[in-house]
Amino acid sequence: MKTNQPILNDIESNPVYGLWNHPATITSNNFVHKSLSNWAFNVAVGCGHGCAFCYVPEVATIKQIHQLRPLGISDPDAQWGDYVLLRQWDEKAFLASLGKAERTPVSELKPDGNRAVIYCSTTDAYQVFRHPDPERRKELDAASMFLVRRSLELIRDHSTLNVRILTRSPLAKRDFDLFQSFGPRLTFGMSLPTLRNDLAKVYEPKAPSPTKRLETLKAAKEAGLHVFVAMAPTFPECDEDDLRKTLEAIREIDPITIYHEPINIRAENVARIEHHAQGLGVALNTSVFATPESWKDYALYALTTVERLAKTLDLADKLHLWPDQSLGSKRVIDSMTDPTDYCRWLESKWTRISKWPK
Ligand code: SF4
Repeated sequence: MKTNQPILNDIESNPVYGLWNHPATITSNNFVHKSLSNWAFNVAVGCGHGCAFCYVPEVATIKQIHQLRPLGISDPDAQWGDYVLLRQWDEKAFLASLGKAERTPVSELKPDGNRAVIYCSTTDAYQVFRHPDPERRKELDAASMFLVRRSLELIRDHSTLNVRILTRSPLAKRDFDLFQSFGPRLTFGMSLPTLRNDLAKVYEPKAPSPTKRLETLKAAKEAGLHVFVAMAPTFPECDEDDLRKTLEAIREIDPITIYHEPINIRAENVARIEHHAQGLGVALNTSVFATPESWKDYALYALTTVERLAKTLDLADKLHLWPDQSLGSKRVIDSMTDPTDYCRWLESKWTRISKWPK
């Protein structure tokens, strides 16, 4: 299926749902110290979950500003969460990108990527198109479902690549049958930073609730999938009790890996989040974002607390921490009482290769 006609709602209105004039292909990705994948398959430009901490609009989408403006998106960052432009399906282009990835010599790949393609790195594979016209909505839903399923079938049947699904949406359940057909070549994971639905509503305003995500993770486990969890990013309001409860719930699922990182948010987004939280009646602790120093203290507290809790819950071997690169700056290292020990700790996290099912 190849569609050339954009399906857009009135460009004066917000949000904007439609088609992007470029095909969806497999591209190499730039994860640093995450051990998630070597390639990404991104189904759309924009993401309807609208997470307040998302780095994508600032580092990636902003580069497409000239193509976005005529569609009614003049500020990709401020409008983040209000536009989803589905990439088009071009089987020839997809197969060419798949072949290129498949032929890449292992010696040229970062080993921490596990020869995997991630769905997705700059959006979520399971989008909801809230288009005002029900017919358009149906078309976009159908095109989106097709894009994910057809591309996965081709990866499964025409390559030896692995696949990592990382989503916040229970809609992924509709593809569990396909995931199962990959056997150990596919891992399925969800972001579950907290069990608190009210907090998630502040930081991930349009994403499905943690309660629904936990249910989906349990269903994935019951379906025999290889499951991982990204406890990421956790929020400053996640105290030790909250972190423990989340880890205990994750332990029940028995995942292969539990990734964790604390939230890192840009100063200009803090006021927006505070305003949103006030409206929802949720108290926030945004002082941690005030200076690089206060954020560093918070981040190290969160990382080491999760590490300690994981040990007490017998999850230490599954825990894969993601300390931010800024925690390796000279300023931070020099502030440590034992810089050598601290650098060793950082290195052990940054060089870790996440486990892949056999
Ligand atoms: S789900 Fe991922 S891509 Fe989408 S807004 Fe949230 S962090 Fe960004």
